[in-house]
Amino acid sequence: MRTELLINGEWRKAASGRRLDVVNPATEETLAAVESAGAEDVDAGVAAARACFESDAWQQLAGRKRGALLHRAADLLEQRAKEFADVETRQNGKPLFESKIDVAQTVEVFRYYAGWADKIGGEVRPVEAGDLVFTERVPVGVVGAIVPWNFPLNLAGWKLAPALAAGCTVVLKPAPETPLTALMLGELLGEAGFPAGSVNVVPGDGPTTGAALVRHPGVDKIAFTGSTATGKQVMRDAADTVKRVTLELGGKSPNVIFADADLKAAVRGAQTGIFYGKGEVCAAGSRLLVERSVHDQVVDELVQRARKLTIGDPFDKTTRLGALVSKRQHEKVLSYIAAGRREANLLVGGNAAKVNGKGFYVEATVFADAKPGASIVEEEIFGPVLAVIPFDDLEEGVRLANRSMYGLAAGVWTKDIQKAFTVARRLRAGTVWINTYNLYDAAAPFGGFKASGFGRDLGREALDGYTDTRTIWVGLRG
Ligand code: NAD
Repeated sequence: MRTELLINGEWRKAASGRRLDVVNPATEETLAAVESAGAEDVDAGVAAARACFESDAWQQLAGRKRGALLHRAADLLEQRAKEFADVETRQNGKPLFESKIDVAQTVEVFRYYAGWADKIGGEVRPVEAGDLVFTERVPVGVVGAIVPWNFPLNLAGWKLAPALAAGCTVVLKPAPETPLTALMLGELLGEAGFPAGSVNVVPGDGPTTGAALVRHPGVDKIAFTGSTATGKQVMRDAADTVKRVTLELGGKSPNVIFADADLKAAVRGAQTGIFYGKGEVCAAGSRLLVERSVHDQVVDELVQRARKLTIGDPFDKTTRLGALVSKRQHEKVLSYIAAGRREANLLVGGNAAKVNGKGFYVEATVFADAKPGASIVEEEIFGPVLAVIPFDDLEEGVRLANRSMYGLAAGVWTKDIQKAFTVARRLRAGTVWINTYNLYDAAAPFGGFKASGFGRDLGREALDGYTDTRTIWVGLRG
């Protein structure tokens, strides 16, 4: 297992000699001690990325060649899917079947952007003067990519694949809880043929390593995924050097069930919406809004399903709820549950759990009848905790759904097609799922409205964040 920093194609120790322990949250055992990059190491990573970006080797690597490298990376990742899924589950605590899905989706993301690499072009613009004016999309340069611990491999891929397709070079800072698959991915990209310095991986904590990357004058753009609080700090720190910033932040996404929905499907969607990934999912449907006439029926069925979700060893095939990522996250989620017991009516769950006497597990938890302003309704918990809220009609459903500082995602469940589209268009959310939830595809842009951030991952739109527009004006009139 790689535990050093990847800088300029070489494995290096941190200049400070600092290391961080990576803990398996299901067993509480230390998996690895990983080198923790300080400001000096970030400096070296940025210098390597800059030198590579400016080198002839990189500048002359045409889009089609970069595409071929991305395809090769996808093939290698597919071949090593088992190894990656295994390590992802060990460091994150998610069930193995979920890690396998993460790896498969990351393969798709590399394939998708491999296809884009030679199709990022500009346009001729007709100008009044009659001269020739055209645009080019040019890579922004060195990208600092900062990702969280909930989908460590996936989110690294969401940044790296479009950045490399666009012709940027990257310094990637994974979360300190989950650096292992990022290091493996860095190594794999080198094997695929990406030149030394094009992808550098510098694990470390936020205030030291992350902030050094954000403030670094040699970084042109920060692609950040994480909490809204950190996103605000990233924006402030990026201001001095006028960096481009894209922010994929938190959410408190509403899943809205109307009485005329296919209730079986809706309850299943509500369940996976909040309990998949242990609820540590930015788009988790953590507020379930249910039309009052079917509220009790939906709640009863959901509670029955929540009771059946097996907590267990993430490597056991029957496990549906793995361990939360860390002791800290475990404590945070349990403190929200304690608040929920005062603010609302606990219907199921609400307890910490252990498997073989170990692990940061939490039961699938559902609250109803929350008081207005309750923290479990307003704040992102990032755990398997759901708040159910009734509404009386479409207007109230839309109003409650939009009553949040966040706007990452939303779900609508109804068989009435007009209602579905009307509601979808009135929801202030970057993604609205109709009669489904939590689906992602490399082609479908993903990102937030409001305090959930700006800029988009995935789709053609992600490439906008890794390119600048150059306008070339050719005087044709002598
Ligand atoms: P976090 O904000 O604490 O950390 C995210 C990353 O930022 C980590 O790598 C961390 O080390 C780094 N960081 C922390 N402080 C920093 C600083 N001052 N400067 C630079 N980097 C810093 O978030 P987390 O707890 O790791 O992840 C959970 C959050 O991520 C949730 O709010 C979740 O909604 C969000 N998230 C959003 C998306 C999305 O696409 N919108 C996807 C996944 C997770």
